[in-house]
Amino acid sequence: MKDHFGPALQELRNKGLWRDMKYMEAPQTAWTVIGGKRMMLLSSNSYLGLSGDPRLIRAAASAVENYGAGAGGSRLTSGSFTLHRELENGIAGFKKTEASILFNTGYMANIGTIAAIADAGWSVYCDKLNHASIIDGIRLSRAEMVVYRHNDMKDLLEKARKRPGRNGLIVTDGVFSMDGDIARIPDIIDIARECGCLTMVDDAHSSGVLGKNGAGTLEYYGLSGGIDIQMGTLSKAFSSEGGFIAGSLKLIEYLRHRARSFIYSTAMPPQSAAVSLAALQIIREEPRRRIRLLENAAFLRKGLRNAGFQVPEGITPIIPVIIGRADIAAELGKTLYEEGLFIPAIRPPTVREGTSRLRISLMATHTREDLEMALGKIIKAGLKSGIIKAGFHE
Ligand SMILES: *Cc1c(COP(=O)(O)O)cnc(C)c1O
Repeated sequence: MKDHFGPALQELRNKGLWRDMKYMEAPQTAWTVIGGKRMMLLSSNSYLGLSGDPRLIRAAASAVENYGAGAGGSRLTSGSFTLHRELENGIAGFKKTEASILFNTGYMANIGTIAAIADAGWSVYCDKLNHASIIDGIRLSRAEMVVYRHNDMKDLLEKARKRPGRNGLIVTDGVFSMDGDIARIPDIIDIARECGCLTMVDDAHSSGVLGKNGAGTLEYYGLSGGIDIQMGTLSKAFSSEGGFIAGSLKLIEYLRHRARSFIYSTAMPPQSAAVSLAALQIIREEPRRRIRLLENAAFLRKGLRNAGFQVPEGITPIIPVIIGRADIAAELGKTLYEEGLFIPAIRPPTVREGTSRLRISLMATHTREDLEMALGKIIKAGLKSGIIKAGFHE
């Protein structure tokens, strides 16, 4: 067969879409070490800065001591540990739902859940900017995928009204991963009621981050229910690994019998469950981390906007700095890397053509001095590349 890979790779290079990986040599904290060099990490999902926390590390070590190093089986065979049960109960309490079920990753939670619920007789309404794992779940389900314009409730309502009598599921990111804005959950609940649809929110970026107790987007809106399926990940604010679905006991029992990514995969290792439990306790007991995180986000967002960068308004720790061209974004990322800031450029196909960006995500453990230093360096690089102009101030 002729060379299938070479031309495809060359095309990526030509388009400025080549990707490389950076390998860390220290924990995922505000500062880390890459290639022997101390770097400020401005792109981690470990929002609360818990990766290096001694309590999480001790929890992992003691779980390995007590339960061994791997799960050894799938959850429905011999891989269920008491730690899994404890964590599922803990998550249900945290999300104020009847029950919850663990998956090995958020990705697996989304594909397994959507494909278990919807089939060719369903329509799944999907925000244009939803995470890839949601899209893959819909594809796997063979349902009709109805994409509505980003956060556009009029478009959603029109599309849902056109399909009376069909089984429907409305699914949205709670916080959108590349833009950092928040879904209009109350409107989605209203539309779902009117059209008789199920609702699902992916709270990967908001669990542990938004709401008084960190419960996510529902709590952020002051809601105690109204969403049928609440998905979350343990790999972001929780600094662990794993995904979950929280909801009614019936939903959870259904998924236990039908979600193939739950059934046909080895259970989450006990140490990941233990780390997640330790993180859950910290999320409950240390609200100041969330407060600090959102203060950090407000500070940096304002600084970047004042300097003239194209940064959408918002409150979450995901701060997109829109650059436009993929090659310019990549170049800027590289310059900042040389300056000791780790902020990878996000390019197509992850984001739409012409909206390549530096995607900053902050931690609760960045200090004000860290952020002032980062801001100075980003502004300097922005001026040098012509992305912003000197003297721009409100
Ligand atoms: C990260 C993420 C996921 C996947 O979660 P993992 O645990 O990393 O597999 C799903 N949805 C959204 C919106 C995400 O940001």
